[in-house]
Amino acid sequence: MIRPDVLAAIGGTPLIRLKRASEETGCTILGKAEFMNPGQSVKDRAALFMVEAAERAGTLRPGGTIVEGTAGNTGIGLAMVGAARGYRTVIVIPETQSAEKKLALRLAGADLVEVPAVPFANPNNYVKVAKRLAERLAATEPGGAFFADQFDNVANREAHIATTGPEIWEATGGRVDGFICAAGTGGTLAGIAAALRARNPRVTIGLSDPDGSALHPYYATGELKASGSSITEGIGQGRVTGNLEGFRPDLSYAIPDAEALPLVFRLLAEEGLCLGGSSGINVAGAIRLARHLGPGHTVVTILCDGGTRYASKLFNPDFLRARDLPVPHWLESPRAIDP
Ligand code: PMP
Repeated sequence: MIRPDVLAAIGGTPLIRLKRASEETGCTILGKAEFMNPGQSVKDRAALFMVEAAERAGTLRPGGTIVEGTAGNTGIGLAMVGAARGYRTVIVIPETQSAEKKLALRLAGADLVEVPAVPFANPNNYVKVAKRLAERLAATEPGGAFFADQFDNVANREAHIATTGPEIWEATGGRVDGFICAAGTGGTLAGIAAALRARNPRVTIGLSDPDGSALHPYYATGELKASGSSITEGIGQGRVTGNLEGFRPDLSYAIPDAEALPLVFRLLAEEGLCLGGSSGINVAGAIRLARHLGPGHTVVTILCDGGTRYASKLFNPDFLRARDLPVPHWLESPRAIDP
């Protein structure tokens, strides 16, 4: 099929049956292959919707600059959309993010500003730096500047209400009993939840939350209180973002890395799916939700991005060992083949 440009290739991703997870639970567990988007993550959809909403609102004008604070994938999506539509893209990123993501951002055409990783309350947090930078560039750049603001800009959530959610509904013929994923901005979770609940109010919506995030404690006890940490990137949240406002999951799970990472390795070794850490948190959540619902149900989750973006961390034995995380034997000692 011929598409008029790369942006028309965003979305329409397949649902893939996860064999082992399905067999072990007696359910049908499906992963939506968002790593197959042209920018290789779930965030292409939000990037496109935020840019189009800004164009309609007149806050992004020809020759303008897109500015965003992002852990990486949103920046890659925005840089791709920016290049395709003729905007410059400036990305503010915490320096702790993977080298592969920083390289992907540069290759996507973004100008990078790296800042130390500090909490949201700190005025030098990457999101706050991005907001100030956007305000300055809006005043000084001839084409103006637009702060994409993925956490509080609900065009992010609308992308999933309009596209990802309906795609899941149509691909399953409406036979979806549960949906679960992690939240970074919350756009994916709240958007898909809204789309599915509008079509079937009885669908069970779950949050799979990494350690170090305050969302599971918030939905379980009402208190935004985080503990522990995770090597996964792009997920976990310390506050109720604009995209999460008005949303509540039916249930939530705190998923430790020690549960999620073996699933990432297993999906690669046994099913040919090379995925990032957040997909592991999501599949772990899907397995728990499937066990909660019982055999015979269909549970959908998100395969957010690909594993090659994390080669130096998630797939690096030294990195894993230093954190007491499990190292799969094939990563530890690759099989030597005598040619
Ligand atoms: N996984 C990865 C790898 C991400 O980059 C993000 C986006 N931050 C998410 C999951 C979560 O998506 P959302 O922002 O829609 O909650």
